[in-house]
Order: sequence, then structure tokens, then C-alpha cells
Amino acid sequence: SASRTASISLEAPEPPAAEEEEALSGLVVLDPGHGGSANGAAYGGVAEKDLNLAIASQAARLLEEAGLTVVMTRSDDRDVPLYRRSGLANSLGADLFVSVHCNANVERDDVTGIYTCSYSQGTNGWRLAQLLHQTMRGATGAEDFGMEERPNLAVLRTSLMPAALVECGFMSTASELEKLVQPAYQAQLARGIADGVLAYLAQ
Ligand code: ZN
Repeated sequence: SASRTASISLEAPEPPAAEEEEALSGLVVLDPGHGGSANGAAYGGVAEKDLNLAIASQAARLLEEAGLTVVMTRSDDRDVPLYRRSGLANSLGADLFVSVHCNANVERDDVTGIYTCSYSQGTNGWRLAQLLHQTMRGATGAEDFGMEERPNLAVLRTSLMPAALVECGFMSTASELEKLVQPAYQAQLARGIADGVLAYLAQ
């Protein structure tokens, strides 16, 4: 949070609640894709499930620091059925659901960038995906791989709250995989995800 400018006052102390930051509250479910026996994509000895968990865990910590309540669909390497992921969010009455993945392209080994999707355009989930797209690109400087409607993805179709899925970059492109495995780059991605969630809740 921002440092405050020191001020000298001989009068009553300032009220405890600073007005410089709007207090946000809410319950966010973060969903690190795959896990356990489901590796997701695998390139160069790196399993997507591990990248997803590393990035989502850091995003969760940032959101908790911002005052939100965060529940992860998994916080270690385990199988979680797709419907249990959105089901958890539904049963908790979560405000937002964000699924975190990394991408792969079997036909091209030179594509890079951030991709986000949601159930359909014109929904709050689409707005969430748009904000995540902007903030993740802003935090990383990554290319724009676009946005898409994905009405058939189970976690998006069955979530009752605004839901988006983000693809943090292409494991199938060596230069991007090199970045994705770096903790510093994972931290940038996490910052981007957290900022998108916060931007949505602040609007
Ligand atoms: Zn995935």
C-alpha cells in the first residue's frame, strides 16, 4: 500500500480509517488448473499443474493482503474434478471465480501471450476476463493472444458467479516457458491476476 505523506497537525488526530484506499471485501475462489494425475500441458520437464499452482498461490496471497477472502480449489498437488471446482465456488457463494492455466499450441512453437476467456460476451464474467486481460498484460508486458467466448468449458459454464479463465502464456514456446518457470515472472503474473480481480471489485 502507498506510503502516507507526513503531516503536522496540532489538532485532533486523523480518523483511523484512511480514505486513500477504498476498502474492498469479497470472497474469491482461485482455481489452479489440473493437479494430481492431471498434469495439463507438459513441456521441457515442466508440468502445467505446478505453474498454475505457483501463480495462483501468489495471487491468493496478494488478494488476502488487499483484504479479500480467498479460497483455492486446491493448494497442493491433487486431483480435483472439474465440477467440484465450480461447485466449491457455488456452495460458498463466492463473488468471483478465476481459473489459472498455462497454454500450449501443438501446431506452432512461436506463439506467445496472455489469453483470457469467459462463458459469453456481455456478461459480468466477460468483464472480469477483460480486466484480467488488461492487468495481466500490464504486469508482464506479455503479448496479447486474445479473448474468447468458451461456453463449453465446465468451470465457466457451471459457475453461478462471474467467472473467467486465464492462460498465462505458452509452455509450448521455449522463450515463454523460460519466463513462466521463473519465480519473478510468476510474481508478475500473480500481480496481474490480483489487480484484475481488485479492479473488478472496485468498479
Ligand atoms: Zn490447463
